[in-house]
Amino acid sequence: MQLFHHYASELSEICSQVKPFPVTRARVAMRNETLAKDLGIDIAELETPALLSALFSNDGELQKNSIAQKYGGHQFGQWNPHLGDGRGLLLGEIKSPAGQFWDLHLKGAGPTPYSRHADGRAVLRSTIREYLASEALYALGIPSSRSLCLLTSEEPVQREQLERGAMMIRTCESHLRFGHFEFFHHSNQPEQLEALFAYSFKYHFPECLDSDSPHQAMFQTIVDNTALMIAKWQAYGFNHGVMNTDNMSIHGITFDYGPYAFLDDFIPEYVCNRSDHNGRYAFDQQPSIGLWNLNALAHAFTPFMQIEDIKTVLMSYEVTLLNEYQTLMKRRLGLYEQAFNEQKLAAEIDIVVSEWMDILKDETADFHQSFRVVSEHLLSIENQEYNNISDFFVNAERVKSWCESYRDIQQKLFDISGNNWAKTQSNMLAVNPKFILRNHLAQEAIAAAEDDDFSLCEALITVLSSPFDDHPEFARFAKPPADPEKGIALSCSS
Ligand code: AMP
Ligand code: MG
Repeated sequence: MQLFHHYASELSEICSQVKPFPVTRARVAMRNETLAKDLGIDIAELETPALLSALFSNDGELQKNSIAQKYGGHQFGQWNPHLGDGRGLLLGEIKSPAGQFWDLHLKGAGPTPYSRHADGRAVLRSTIREYLASEALYALGIPSSRSLCLLTSEEPVQREQLERGAMMIRTCESHLRFGHFEFFHHSNQPEQLEALFAYSFKYHFPECLDSDSPHQAMFQTIVDNTALMIAKWQAYGFNHGVMNTDNMSIHGITFDYGPYAFLDDFIPEYVCNRSDHNGRYAFDQQPSIGLWNLNALAHAFTPFMQIEDIKTVLMSYEVTLLNEYQTLMKRRLGLYEQAFNEQKLAAEIDIVVSEWMDILKDETADFHQSFRVVSEHLLSIENQEYNNISDFFVNAERVKSWCESYRDIQQKLFDISGNNWAKTQSNMLAVNPKFILRNHLAQEAIAAAEDDDFSLCEALITVLSSPFDDHPEFARFAKPPADPEKGIALSCSS
């Protein structure tokens, strides 16, 4: 594969040349053929001998110009200037057949100048979790970094206990984080900050250069994309868990997966990160934390923008997020979007959506299965037979009454849209996943992989890559967990 090294050459002052450190008996355990194809990478290059040679031999293609990036970040609200790629290397950029540049990044590559006495490694457990999650989010239409391949090794890594080590190669537009810009602003390095902006415009926000204020256009794009991403997290029950500004991408994509979780039961204040004692990054805090983080990023734009303009851009965040969230929730309930503008109907639609969410919350119902059940039994609603749906809940009468109101609204919408129940059902089945990456499933797949059996990981990739399809042979993965396995929270250790 042909690698470019724009970051390494154009921003050499703000990164460090670091070679990947080999690990003992590494082998490629998972490869993402679809992604490789999309990026124009020959899958043979991801076979063990070829990849190990490219990464670790002296003349290896992938280690020629590998670098660790410097950045900072607000961690749990506190500014930390001592961050950077402590265990990940940018191998270079690849040009996709569509002409876009994508970072190739190796995680778990060994120590760098930013490792702060840590080992620079990643454990198999967290690497699998990241591999699975990024593919799962992508398939749900939630922007994310992608996983290209995963390497296991027999080198043990010390965490709370000794664990198996691993590496993965991931791809995304760039690894530029809010914390990159914050660092060069707060450390008073205006030339480096300008170089970072120049690089960003050139490779990632070229359209902003057409604007009267390129910085404002770029900030607006970041605000928009962050709002859209978080709206999608909320609509699909995803709790990121560590929304520090060093884990926030300027492209509005989900990355740096840690102790994330998809909700099982709908508990809005759920916290997936066991180390987050105050619930700063709870599921229902994510929208406001997104704004807090953008506010932190905004400081780096102050040399280039008027404060009033920054405020105006920040004010658009909530509107964009809410609009996207509400659209997605209505779409999940099969409600005809064009009708949202008809005031009286729009008000009725809002009521039926919020009553639905109240039911899920009051019943602590399974977030994902609830939507799927309505989608699968939509034709029962048409026939006013509500048991198939109400059986799924405790308060059957409340659910039946909701079904009745929902049915009335759908009938009114069909008059406007010309849609019908069958068409609406197929729309709903295409946006309400049957399969979701629940933590107990990830744990099961990890346990097998620790014994070198990646078949469960592969099976999960199959269902999570097309989560709206039926996959009858994998029906058990569609079931919510039993009570003891619900809502598993994890530590940051990775
Ligand atoms: P994270 O929690 O993975 O977002 O990491 C926060 C910071 O710590 C980043 O700068 C990481 O590169 C660094 N880091 C995390 N784990 C390690 C490790 N095992 N070795 C070196 N640096 C690490
Ligand atoms: Mg991170």
